[in-house]
Amino acid sequence: MRTPEEIKNRMKEISLQDSYNDTIFNYCDRWCEKCPFTSKCLNFALSVGDPPLDDKEGWKYLKNVVDATCMMLDDLTELNGYDVTQIENIILTPSQDPESYPLSIYVKETAFKIHNWLKKNDLFSRLNNLLDLGVQLSEKFSRYKESVEVIYRYNFLIAAKITRAVAGLLENREYSHYDMNGSAKIALVSIDRLIVA
Ligand code: SF4
Repeated sequence: MRTPEEIKNRMKEISLQDSYNDTIFNYCDRWCEKCPFTSKCLNFALSVGDPPLDDKEGWKYLKNVVDATCMMLDDLTELNGYDVTQIENIILTPSQDPESYPLSIYVKETAFKIHNWLKKNDLFSRLNNLLDLGVQLSEKFSRYKESVEVIYRYNFLIAAKITRAVAGLLENREYSHYDMNGSAKIALVSIDRLIVA
């Protein structure tokens, strides 16, 4: 397993390569298995070879990634001469908590409604039971399965991206407008895909 120091050095080495786009992963749907931009994505390049996050090893590795990120922040703080005791003056606190904004509340409630519906109907178990019984999925059922996957994938992502867009709106600074537009764009693309599914 890579140590935090090794992860930090690798991050620096890969991010200096011109062939990667270093913002695309902020405004994508994080469905890397289906993404046509993996060869251009810095985040994808950095995660190649990482252990999966479904066991203790994965979680230990994630801690090392967080430690490596903190080490890089320390380096940047020192390089730029920031005084972290003055951090309150650097970070602008939005006038309102984005989570309490009506649109954020609405999308969160909607996401949980969809999630509860999926849970109640247990669609994946039903499909997997058919597969366990050796039933070949017809083209119609394959599309149905894909649609369920799409709904699972996008449901909470839409709520998260809309809340992030709202945060940018409330923060109301040049960079936050850029972030707001990117987040709202991927939310709209995801809503379209959810509707089709
Ligand atoms: S590879 Fe993954 S993280 Fe990168 S842009 Fe594609 S979906 Fe996003």
